[in-house]
Order: sequence, then structure tokens, then C-alpha cells
Amino acid sequence: MENGQVVIRKRGADRFRGGHLWVYKSDILSHKDAPPGGIVSVRDERGAVLGKAFYSSQSQIALRFIARGDAKIDEPFFQKRLDQADRLRERLGIDPLLSRRIYSEGDLLPGLIVDRYGDRLVVQSLTQGADALQPLVIKMLIERYQPRSILLRNDSRVRELEGLELKQERIGDPLPDMLIVDEDGKKMAVSLTAGQKTGSYLDQRDNHRAARRYARGRALDAFAYSGGFAVQISEVCESVEAVDMSADALEFARRNAQRNDLKNIQCIEANAFDFLRDRHQEGVRYDTIILDPPAFAKNKESLEGALRGYKEINNRAMRLLRPSGILITCSCSHHVNEGIFAEMLADAAKDAGCWTRVIERRIQSADHPVLLAVPETLYLKCFILEILS
Ligand code: SAH
Repeated sequence: MENGQVVIRKRGADRFRGGHLWVYKSDILSHKDAPPGGIVSVRDERGAVLGKAFYSSQSQIALRFIARGDAKIDEPFFQKRLDQADRLRERLGIDPLLSRRIYSEGDLLPGLIVDRYGDRLVVQSLTQGADALQPLVIKMLIERYQPRSILLRNDSRVRELEGLELKQERIGDPLPDMLIVDEDGKKMAVSLTAGQKTGSYLDQRDNHRAARRYARGRALDAFAYSGGFAVQISEVCESVEAVDMSADALEFARRNAQRNDLKNIQCIEANAFDFLRDRHQEGVRYDTIILDPPAFAKNKESLEGALRGYKEINNRAMRLLRPSGILITCSCSHHVNEGIFAEMLADAAKDAGCWTRVIERRIQSADHPVLLAVPETLYLKCFILEILS
């Protein structure tokens, strides 16, 4: 399956030796016979073999390593990667029927995402390498999970960076508009074809669970999407206001509340920034607030503006909370690392004039494993704070 030889500069080789999987285009010295999306053999300037990688002819990230040394890359190699991914999830007690089975770099399969929703699978190939591998991946997934259907959700904009077409395809049975899955005892509707991500925020599932441990009283779930947090905390709260500016998302939230017979969830279509400000002016107070905004920092350049946005909503939430109130606050921008996020929160607390205790410092769900030396694999931060004033 391998073809092509790539030689990289010292800077790229050092990065690889430091544990990262990526090599930038500017660190490529030569790429003899390397086809787009091919699996290439990578050497350093002195000819030492480093490993095998996916080659991209378009992306700024020209190489993504899949193996160290002179490993043979064939079907058994990829079967082993899938076995390793399954074994990790088994060991962690992850729900086999509703989870991310393959998380790209985190499972040493860069660019490949596989999510399982019961008897359906959603596959995303985000890089040329993963795209070229897709036929084999599909064959292996069918053998492994015998899904009723596989949706190839190759409509993510990041594919454009790789010069790949945006499209959706289906293998197997047609997909219903709405699929009902069981998230920790609650029935949740997801749309695999039209929903955000692959249909739902599997990366927040562990945090939904954690939120249930602390939420109480009058709660606000801002940036609610289909009510992932709201539905899980409803029974331990007096009331939950679920706010989102997408009418489609809120329709799902509303139906999810009904489906689970949760009568204390109120779905409100609003811009969360305005909503927080208006509530403050009205003098409303909450016992629990959840903030789970979309990634404000899409790149390094937008970091400063993003931090202003994060600070504004967090500051407002802190001021809306009663003493001993709980703030569950998230950021899924990987450019905002945990340290920057914590600093921003401290800054927001300073302006709100409150002491803030950290109850938990959390990350994305465990089925999105993190590679220690690849900071990009850790993108979701979730702090659970207690407001002490
Ligand atoms: N908390 C959800 C995921 C939230 S994703 C869960 O756990 O499942 C972020 C959501 O924020 C999206 O549904 C998007 O529609 C919404 N959103 C983005 N900008 C917003 C804004 N300014 N005000 C309100 N909602 C917003």
C-alpha cells in the first residue's frame, strides 16, 4: 500500500521525534513519487528512516504519521489500529452503541472519524490520506460492526483544505430523518445527515454526566443545541432554560424534552450574549449555568477576539449566579489551551468581583483520546466552578 519517499528537514524530524504526528509543507525537502493521499516512507536529511505517513499534496500539513520506523502498512496494520481503538474503549467502559470509535490522530489514524449511533455508523475522511483509505476502512467497519447503514459524511469544510470534494454518501439501508439513541437512560433524537458534527456532540457526553452531579435549582443551558446538558440535568433541577440561536437545534431540544417527559425544560431561541445581558438587567439569578459555545477561535489570528467573547459570557454568567452557584463552562477552540482558558476565567471573575473555586477541570469525552505530544488532539476544555462571593 506504500508508495513514494519523502525527505524532511531537521525541524520536521525533531517535531516527529518529539512525538508529534504532523510535518508542515515547509519542512518537506523532497517528495519523490508521492501521490496525493498516498502512504509514504519518511526519512530525515541524513537518510535515517523515521516512519510511514499519509501525504497530502494540498494541505499545509503535508505529512501525518501513522507508524514509526519501517512498519509494513497493509490491511492487518489497519485492523490492528481498529483493534487498539476498540480495546481502549472497552477498557474505559465506553458505551459501545453510542460513541466515537475512531478519533483521528488520537487513535493514530489521522483524518479518520468513525462515530457509532446504534446500528448506524458515520464516517468522516478529513484528509487525502483518510479519503484514499476509505474503501478499505468501510470494508473493515462492515466486518467489525455489521452496521445497517454507513453514512459517509464527507461534507466538512476542512476537506477543502485538502482539495477534496464535499459530499454525503450512504451505504446500506436509508437513514431516517431522526434517529433515536439512548444517552445514559435518556432518549435523544439525532439527525445524522443534517445535524451538527456527525449528528451530536459525543465529545460532551462525559461532561453532561458530570454536570448532573452538580446542577440544581434554577438552571440555564446556554448554547444548548439539542439539549444534551438540559436533558441530563433536568431531573436534579427545578427548572432548565435551554437557549440556542438555531431554531432547528431547539426543535430537537424541545422534542427531546417531551420524549423524556421532562416538563421543566423551557426552550428559548435567542442569542446567548443578548440573553445573558437581558437576564441580568431583569435581575434574574440562577443556581447553575452551563456555557458551551461554538469555537470562537478558529485560528490563531482570531484568538484575541475570541477571548473577549469567552470573557464576556463567563463574566455575565458569574454575575448571574447566586452565591455557591455552579458554572459549567466550556471551550472547544484548541487555540485556547487550558492555561489561557483558566486565565480568561480568572479575569472574568476579577471583573465580576467574586472568588471562584475549581471543582473539576475536565476535557472531552474519553472516546476522543488525547496524544500527549499532539496538543491539537485536546481541544475541549470544561471547567466546573463554584462561585463564592
Ligand atoms: N451543548 C451542546 C452543544 C452546543 S454546540 C451539547 O452538549 O450537545 C454550540 C451551539 O451554540 C450550537 O447549537 C449553535 O447553534 C449555538 N450558538 C452559536 N452561537 C450562538 C449564540 N450567539 N447564541 C446562542 N446559541 C449559539
